[in-house]
This record gives sequence, C-alpha cells and structure tokens, in this order.
Amino acid sequence: MSAIFLNGELVPRERAVVSVYDHGLLYGDGVFEGLRFYGGKVFKLREHLDRLEESARHIHLVIPSTMDALARDVEACVKASGMADGYVRLVVTRGVGNLGLDPRSCPRPQVIIIADAISLYPAEMYEKGMEIVTASTIRNHPNALSPRVKSLNYLNNIMAKLEAARAGVPEAIMLNHIGEVAECTADNIFVVERGRLRTPPRSAGILAGITRATVIDLARQASVPFAEETLTRHDIFAASEMFLTGTGAEIIPVTKVDGRPIGDGSPGPVTRLLRGKYHELVRSVA
Ligand code: PMP
Repeated sequence: MSAIFLNGELVPRERAVVSVYDHGLLYGDGVFEGLRFYGGKVFKLREHLDRLEESARHIHLVIPSTMDALARDVEACVKASGMADGYVRLVVTRGVGNLGLDPRSCPRPQVIIIADAISLYPAEMYEKGMEIVTASTIRNHPNALSPRVKSLNYLNNIMAKLEAARAGVPEAIMLNHIGEVAECTADNIFVVERGRLRTPPRSAGILAGITRATVIDLARQASVPFAEETLTRHDIFAASEMFLTGTGAEIIPVTKVDGRPIGDGSPGPVTRLLRGKYHELVRSVA
C-alpha cells in the first residue's frame, strides 16, 4: 500500500493532486529527496532533511515547516503505508503562482510526501554487475544551477538517461564541464584502482550522495584505503572494480563501461565487502 501526505495531511491517492499553476510543474521550481525505509525505520532521515534544507536555501525556498515537524510527517507517512520496507519521495515545490517565472507570485510552497514500494534493479544485476556507457550530455555546469542542489529540474540527467536507454543499458556516466568523471544520472561513482577506493570530490560537480557518505564511512571502518580524487575515463578503464551508490540502488557493481570490461568483468572483493557491510548497517538500524 502507499500513503501520501499533502501539506501535513494524509490524503487518498485520488485526491493527491497539485495545481497546474504549481511552479514545481511549470518550471521545475522546487527540491526533493528520495529516502528508503527498512523495517519501518527511515534510513538517514536527518541527513536527507539537512540536504533538503540546504537545497531549499540555495534556491531561496522557505520550507513552511520545521525540520522536526517534517521528520515526524515522514515517519507518520511511512507508518500509514503499512509497509516495512519501501521508498519515500519528499518534494517541496514553490507552490501555486501565476504563469510568470517570478517565484514571488507563489505565497505558499507545497510539501508532498509519498511512501511507496521501491523498484530495484533486477537481483541478477547485483550479482553479475551492470553495464553502462558514458553519456555525451555533461553534468550541469557548477556555475549554472549547482549539482549540489537536488532540484526538481532533472532534465539534463534525463537526457543522459535517454542516451543510456538508446545504448541498451540502465545508467550512464556523466562527465563534468572539463571532462572529468562526475557521477551517473542518479547515482555516485566509486572505483577501486590498485587496492585503493576512489570517488570524485564534491568539487567535481556532483550531488553529495548520502549513500556515498555512508560508503566512505564503511570503507574507513573496514580500513579500505580511500581517497576523494578527480577521476577521468582513463581511471575507469584502468580500474579493477567499479560500483555505483544511491539510496534506491544502494551499492551496485559495474562490470562493463563503453564495451570494456572492468577488472575481470565480475564484481570484485571491495564491492562485495562494502555491499555486505551496507546491508548489515541498514538492517541494524531497522
Ligand atoms: N547523484 C544524483 C544525481 C542523484 O539524483 C542521486 C540520488 N538518487 C545520487 C547521486 C545518490 O544520492 P543518495 O545516495 O543521497 O541517494
């Protein structure tokens, strides 16, 4: 079952609708988060709310609720769904305004919380690894809307996702404006090169993923050598292992990029170790 909260109230699915004058729809003006819950508990709720608040601040959007009240609503929504494991989409739009761009015509931002089932990549992909390609669409320039903002405007990433679909694969690497590896369309990137775990720094123009931060913590705890370092496609082709991280995907191995096998073409030991630790962690807090 799903549950939907609209501006703090539980509403049935048929009544969970927004106005055609909402600037979230008209202009992609708003911010969002994707969260997971395991055993009825929302994983890293505080971190997601912090990032939502940062994104909102960046776009001058005042969320009409305290973060504590929002946390309670997210938890209430999960409870109302009756599900033990699932996904939460938390959206704050600029709200209803007139047809002009100016957000000052929108007096009240709209808060939407949806708790629903999660659609994962097929289990086989976690076992055998995923094949991906490099997109020609680059990640948003950091001096345009910063990729740190998790905004409702994902069109650039959707263009890269379409490139992946055209190539018959589920994801695509997006480079930044100077040709360095940034991230995938909805996941962060890690590689293992000569036993060292590496991921692009935030300055590469990426979303600061919460799963990324969790994986970095887990690697440190497990004494896996780790560095945030600029990566190029060369580093990817030279890597012995590669995986992607995201709230929805968790940790998913990548075993082929642009037709080249990564390492021996199967998920490697560091990826397996971290996947095991991640699952232990999400189950331990549930
Ligand atoms: N990068 C982008 C562009 C994303 O949209 C996401 C979220 N799906 C991620 C990375 C991963 O972030 P998180 O681990 O916080 O889900």
